[in-house]
Amino acid sequence: MRDETKCIHCGYRPKNTEPKMVPIVQSTTYVFDSTEAVGEVFDEPTKALIYSRFANPTVMAVEQKIADLEGGVGAMCTASGQAASLLAVLNICKSGDSFVSTSQIYGGTVNLFAVTLKNHGIECIFVDADADAETIGAAIKDNTRLIFGETIANPALSVLDIRKFAKVAHSHGIPLIIDNTFATPILCKPFEYGADIVVHSTSKYMDGHAVQVGGVIVDSGSFDWTNGKFPELTDPDDSYHGITYVGSYGKSAYIIKARMQLMRDYGVYPSANSAFLLNLGLETLALRMERYCSNALAVARFLAASGKVESVSYPGLESDKYYPLTREYLKGASGVISFVIKGGKENAVRFMDGLKLASIEVHVADIRTCVLHPASATHRQLTDRQLLAAGIDPGMIRLSVGLENVDDIIDDIVQSLERI
Ligand SMILES: *Cc1c(COP(=O)(O)O)cnc(C)c1O
Repeated sequence: MRDETKCIHCGYRPKNTEPKMVPIVQSTTYVFDSTEAVGEVFDEPTKALIYSRFANPTVMAVEQKIADLEGGVGAMCTASGQAASLLAVLNICKSGDSFVSTSQIYGGTVNLFAVTLKNHGIECIFVDADADAETIGAAIKDNTRLIFGETIANPALSVLDIRKFAKVAHSHGIPLIIDNTFATPILCKPFEYGADIVVHSTSKYMDGHAVQVGGVIVDSGSFDWTNGKFPELTDPDDSYHGITYVGSYGKSAYIIKARMQLMRDYGVYPSANSAFLLNLGLETLALRMERYCSNALAVARFLAASGKVESVSYPGLESDKYYPLTREYLKGASGVISFVIKGGKENAVRFMDGLKLASIEVHVADIRTCVLHPASATHRQLTDRQLLAAGIDPGMIRLSVGLENVDDIIDDIVQSLERI
């Protein structure tokens, strides 16, 4: 099946007289015929449903759909994108270990990696996404367990050279984990370029309608965990009567461990109802991504030609630094643009407040166009000088282009620019 078809048909195929739509199984528990039947499931927990803290039929249908879209052997949904990144790392990192991440990642992930995981004894070493292979390799130590990066970084809008990072990771016997939120599997399938694990915030384009916060981890099944560096996957798990994940589950070892061990213990599983809503979003993902890309490209071109705009950052523009990588890895540059208005913070605020169609939101990747002015929101506490040091121009606006008619989106921008 092609992506458009997978979006609609994967994960749930009803049989004779079964519901056409994936049912919402809003049940915490499942019943068993006998004491022995329960015992068997505890010996082999992947055989049947036990408890909705780590597996539920509605959620599992969505997991299968996303695994099929990414081309992986399995997926596990989480209650948020943050939980997906957290569990993806914790599955192979413990106190005393380190991992490498590009600096150009989502701000929430920076906090998680640089502060919270550090408090738990896990060190994150940051490297620039544009660093050469030698510099990335030099950051890797004996206790380094993985490399992490974003396909299209939020909010930097840099595009990752996935092959380069995969090559460095594999030459050190460690996996590459990619946050593919902004690209979605429609625009990029990181496994095709050597990534081993993919995570998403499904709160963004996958949902697309701003109705559920969620995340997902997808396993390519292609990483060899038996090189001696990953005893947690090759040695017996005392919390599961001595099971060895690679021995019992082969290519699915990583994702099954994440569910059987981490999801069982941390319990950050989404509700069936959230998964049902996510599935509705996924059904039109392929169609929507095409339009996000074409709308955003038209808006980016309009902004680049405007005399009131100082600069535009959108990896789909031919003039953009990341255009060559966009051509190499992406079918389109997705829907988020950042641009700098002439006249600094004052004009940026005036522009934002003058918009009539686009709404001001701390969100991106929604069906509705929305804007955010980092200098007066997420980075509000910084002075102009500190903002520039952090790489954020006081006049910078992040624009998440929606699926309204592109002429209406541009008309709204025009009328608000005219007030400046
Ligand atoms: C939003 C986002 C996250 C965090 O996801 P939540 O669902 O908000 O927890 C992680 N990575 C990227 C790239 C994001 O845009």
